[in-house]
Amino acid sequence: MADTINKVCVIGAGVMGAGIAAQVANAGVPVLLLDIVPKDGADRDAIAKGAVAKMLKTEPAPFMSPAAAKLVETGNIEDHLDKVAECDWIVEAVVERLDIKQALYARLEELKRPGTAVSSNTSTIPLGHLVEGRSEQFKNDFLITHFFNPPRYMRLIEIVTSEHTDAGVAAKVEQFVDHRMGKRIVRAKDTPGFIANRIGTYWLAVAINAAMDQGLTVEEADQIGGRPMGVPKTGIFGLIDLVGIDLMPLLAKSLSSTLPEGDAYFDTIRPLPLVDKMIAEGFTGRKGKGGFYRLDKKPDGTKAKQSLDLQTGEYRAEKKPERLPGRAEKDLAALVATPGKVGDYAWAILGPVLSYAAGLVGEAADDVVAIDGAMKLGYNWKFGPFELIDRMGPGKLAERLRAEGKPVPALLETAGDRPFYRVVDGKRQYLTLGGDYADVVRAEGVLLLEDIKLRSEPLLKNGSASAWDVGDGVVAFEFTGKMNALDEQVLSLLQKTIALVKSQYKALVIYNEGSNFSAGANLGLAMFAVNIAAWGEVDKLVVAGQQAYKALKYAPFPVVAAPAGMALGGGCEILLHADAIQAHAESYIGLVETGVGLVPGWGGNGELIDRLAKSPKMPKGPMPAAMKAFETISTAQVSRSAALAKDLGYLRKDDGITMNRDRLLADAKQKALSLVEGYQPPEKPVFRLPGAAGRVAFNGAVADFAKKGVATPYDVVVAGRLANIVTGGEADIIDEVSEDQLLKLERAAFMESVKDARTQARVEHMLETGKPLRN
Ligand code: NAD
Repeated sequence: MADTINKVCVIGAGVMGAGIAAQVANAGVPVLLLDIVPKDGADRDAIAKGAVAKMLKTEPAPFMSPAAAKLVETGNIEDHLDKVAECDWIVEAVVERLDIKQALYARLEELKRPGTAVSSNTSTIPLGHLVEGRSEQFKNDFLITHFFNPPRYMRLIEIVTSEHTDAGVAAKVEQFVDHRMGKRIVRAKDTPGFIANRIGTYWLAVAINAAMDQGLTVEEADQIGGRPMGVPKTGIFGLIDLVGIDLMPLLAKSLSSTLPEGDAYFDTIRPLPLVDKMIAEGFTGRKGKGGFYRLDKKPDGTKAKQSLDLQTGEYRAEKKPERLPGRAEKDLAALVATPGKVGDYAWAILGPVLSYAAGLVGEAADDVVAIDGAMKLGYNWKFGPFELIDRMGPGKLAERLRAEGKPVPALLETAGDRPFYRVVDGKRQYLTLGGDYADVVRAEGVLLLEDIKLRSEPLLKNGSASAWDVGDGVVAFEFTGKMNALDEQVLSLLQKTIALVKSQYKALVIYNEGSNFSAGANLGLAMFAVNIAAWGEVDKLVVAGQQAYKALKYAPFPVVAAPAGMALGGGCEILLHADAIQAHAESYIGLVETGVGLVPGWGGNGELIDRLAKSPKMPKGPMPAAMKAFETISTAQVSRSAALAKDLGYLRKDDGITMNRDRLLADAKQKALSLVEGYQPPEKPVFRLPGAAGRVAFNGAVADFAKKGVATPYDVVVAGRLANIVTGGEADIIDEVSEDQLLKLERAAFMESVKDARTQARVEHMLETGKPLRN
């Protein structure tokens, strides 16, 4: 099709260019990655090749699968630039130098097809400067696509177009970055630093200066300026350590050379001798010798967290500050009103930063929605600046600014006591520059439970789950417990939901909008039963899970499971019982029970074997599928992406993958509807398993691992129980094993494990430390 993007060229194979190329490849699209010819060395493609090789070793991985890496073709701009004529989109991600970018565009102008989009990944250079001297056609084809680092994982893209940019060209690129590369687009105006970095840089500068002026420790600053404001737990100094302290003066230099005169950012610039000294001596943060924090290895091998004393510049042992008083942790108005350093510091950040953001509506972005979106996705803030203002009270913010003789941004005056967001008739609305409210509009085709919840009540609900009508006869079943943990209530609501869909709806999707689909059963609750030896209760939970999941599997309507983030243990097993899976590309799926000394207990063993046995790639016979399931479950393997979940067998070949998180529900619903006509529930599988002889082989393999020190003594025991299930227990290799028999084996092995003190020790350790106990 003429209007799709079938091949992309990325020029500049540095941090960003390489990462962008990888994400194009993750979308399954071939990409040509070019860089300069190195001054020395025989291989003229060495830089781009080196970038790919480096990415294959980088963690977190830029590529979602080895297959994606194969879609990247490497080259150099001397020998291969003419290949841009084969490409439908050219992304420039070379060094941040106007002269170099302009010279490259002059060459591209000669070589590319008219109508092929060219976009720059520049962080700071205005679009107007980039296209100076270029033809009309080039200007029509040009835009800025500003990705964030790392491109695979950061969901924001800021897009800047000019009055010359052809709407069709821009739409084609936008369609691709949204649907295929999975980014949420925020449209920014052609102003320095665009939205997120402009506010982000200002915020960090203000926060550092205030911490130094007020004599706070880095821990205090990160405590007050972190979580209570919805900022990730790295806080301020932790974030600077993460991105690199050496980036600070570079950002300051480039922003201050382009920002308009009188911009409040200039007031934050001051000599920071401590920071200069740190950079000069290689203390550039996590990538260097340390930053505001560092981990020191003690003689006994353990690590000690050290913090920098901002006054003396020396490291000292970490000092955890006292808990914030009263409601300061949760209530922003209470935070800034807290007497003493807590309130003073919070206000020293929020006053200027929220004012700055309010001043940028109209200048850097069209509306508050764009600014909030940019900060939430680009800096991982839980709330955007205007959501923060709403939490504090717009009137209160203006009042305090006025009382302190500080300028009150015009938009804040316009707002008066009205919030920036409100919900009217089930629709979220925002306050416009003109002072009216307008609907928040989602991108075409996006369907979110978050929005459905504003306009409707759940069909069913209890303390751990809800069911929602998501339109067109489809119901979405949502986990709602803490961390989306699974418990008896989830299972009972699932049964009720199945009955409801059966009588009144067409199809069901299992979906939620938590950062993780589900990390599995609520272990804390299970331990409670274990501690009082309420074995009957534990057994009941196992049976309830098996029954609910099988009811889901054999329900007379299609079920599509739509995970995103972690889907572990029972959260993975529910996927395996669906007719189809539509997974977000960033799905981390695994049966991890053995890590805590358990075995899958809700039907996961049989379902995984069945999937593997039916996979076209699997050799026939009882052994291969059982062995692969045994390997995967006994080593608690978790897929590092949805693509890799296909390799492990959790996803089938034709299960779908959605790149954009915002489109997952719509895609899952579509998939469910596509299965409605003529739907027949699956037939019960009959298993052919390896029997006792296979079990000997499996146990032998684990014994070898134990000898090599890879498996612990208790790993061997747990693996033995698992081997008993996947080989069919007492069955012989020639016997048929029914699904029900397999469930019985699974239940017995689970109960045996849960009663074992070594399992209990593992579970307790996991609950306390979040890490596995290797007993
Ligand atoms: P980088 O220094 O890691 O990589 C730049 C690459 O460009 C190098 O490999 C260099 O060899 C190559 N290069 C230089 N001149 C070239 C030319 N004429 N043709 C082809 N390649 C050439 O830089 P980066 O951090 O990847 O930044 C690239 C662009 O992305 C810059 O415009 C930067 O502002 C922007 N950006 C960076 C980040 C970030 O976090 N690093 C984030 C968003 C945007």
